[in-house]
Amino acid sequence: MIYPGYLREGFEPFDPIELAQLTEAKVARGSSRKYTDFYCVGVYGGISTGYTVGCCLRCIFCWVDFSRDFPDKYGDFYSPEEVAHRLVANAQRKRISKLRISGGEPMLCREHLLSVLDLLQGQGFTFILETNGIPPGDDDSYAQELARHPDIDVRVSLKAGTAKGFQERTGAKGEFWRLPFEAIESLMRAGVTFHVAAMTDARLMPPEERKSLLRELRQIGYDGYVEEEMCDPYRTSLVRLQAAGREIL
Ligand code: SF4
Repeated sequence: MIYPGYLREGFEPFDPIELAQLTEAKVARGSSRKYTDFYCVGVYGGISTGYTVGCCLRCIFCWVDFSRDFPDKYGDFYSPEEVAHRLVANAQRKRISKLRISGGEPMLCREHLLSVLDLLQGQGFTFILETNGIPPGDDDSYAQELARHPDIDVRVSLKAGTAKGFQERTGAKGEFWRLPFEAIESLMRAGVTFHVAAMTDARLMPPEERKSLLRELRQIGYDGYVEEEMCDPYRTSLVRLQAAGREIL
């Protein structure tokens, strides 16, 4: 498999599990992982954030910088201790109580993430763990390991409600479209605190697909809040949408 950058019209769909492995080979070194930066932002009412490098999807609306597509070129390696220290120090400076890892896919590089969570446990912070649901959907034991961390709130961000929509907008083969839903089932079974977000922007997701997504959530027993996302006109999103032939903004 040739490592994919951002999607172009006529792209060849990829296996997201294989892309996860290829990406980890680029962004993990022992228990360290690549990050581009650490700073506080206003979302979630103020949150100290570490921006990781690398993802296992190639969403055409993605706002993340180009480290997502070219992980060899961006970022520096940080140990779990360095990451925990930077997250906490920035939070204390701004007097905020929430931490998160964002940027690429935070649930790649499992050893690294679990070590960071171990280091932060019991320090009085809430850790928002954002994920596209591919890594925990692929391995049921991941949610069980997260269940050891009562301070976390997982945010599973769904990208599609059908196999077709999943393939068209993430670049991953449609046959993998249910993995994020399997992640939700796994989190429910493990008793992990989580909530669901979904990129249901009508300019990207047809109404029938949105209905399918909501129906799928009901069928797996999720009756909680769904945070419906809109696609904002970030420069990176515009470049990716244009390259994929979808100038919607
Ligand atoms: S939107 Fe999220 S899941 Fe999709 S490519 Fe960007 S970082 Fe990855």
